[in-house]
Amino acid sequence: MHHLIIGELPHLTVGAVVFYLVYVRTSGLQHVAVRTRLLLLSMGAFTGITPDISKLLLGDLWAHTIWCSPVLATFIALYYHKQFRFWRIWAAATCTILMGHLGLDLLDNGVALLYPIIPTEFELALLAKQDMAIPVALVACMAIGFMPRVSFKTCIVFGLLICVAYVGYKAVVKVQIEEQLRLAYGHYSEKRPTTIIPSSDFTKPFTYSIMSRHFRMYGHSTFTAKLIEEHKMFNTHWQVVNEYEHDGVLYIECVGSGKNNSDVRAVFRSTDYEQWDRVEDGTLRR
Ligand SMILES: [Zn+2]
Repeated sequence: MHHLIIGELPHLTVGAVVFYLVYVRTSGLQHVAVRTRLLLLSMGAFTGITPDISKLLLGDLWAHTIWCSPVLATFIALYYHKQFRFWRIWAAATCTILMGHLGLDLLDNGVALLYPIIPTEFELALLAKQDMAIPVALVACMAIGFMPRVSFKTCIVFGLLICVAYVGYKAVVKVQIEEQLRLAYGHYSEKRPTTIIPSSDFTKPFTYSIMSRHFRMYGHSTFTAKLIEEHKMFNTHWQVVNEYEHDGVLYIECVGSGKNNSDVRAVFRSTDYEQWDRVEDGTLRR
């Protein structure tokens, strides 16, 4: 439950801000009363999480498509049509779902935006679900915006710019990590992919792991994109002669020197903890 709420905070805050800005823009309002402001922000916050609510009814895939966004927006606009102009709410809600929800999902754990035409999930993996930078920046800017003689609109536009800059920073760090890993370990990881995962910890914006024929390693990057190696499992006593996958588990077959000059064969199985477990051994006959 705790994780569910944390994961929705970026949607709630970006949703509130985008909805407010689009509504104010389309209605040409110069001065928005505090009550209306709060109402619009809460409508936006709710709109920002609608794809995750409608997921229960429509299923994960349909609720998170670009086709579904204007449909969900229509229901929201119908609900509020007595208080506000229908198309203004519809426009604000559509932008909110696209930017405040699908856009953010694209930045973290991925979303199949064009399902069923393109069923693959697009994923930039720049933000972790628990990353609080965006909600904190937006809440702070909104709070400042409520102070007297301060322009609320300017404050939240500034807040959005901070978010864009943050995402840009994460993208730059990720590209630098990719480049460093490719230069340092490219020759090892030709067969196994390198994984770079965003983390919510500001001091280590990304963690990475490499699985290769000969070793597995993982580490993290500092906020200046410096790589810190945490663990490396290298098979120095064993020569890897074969590598295969079975039921999604990686196995390596190794040969080492045993008694009487006979070659000892061993099979290792990769575990969840980036280690190798020996699963069988025997004598190789030549
Ligand atoms: Zn979602």
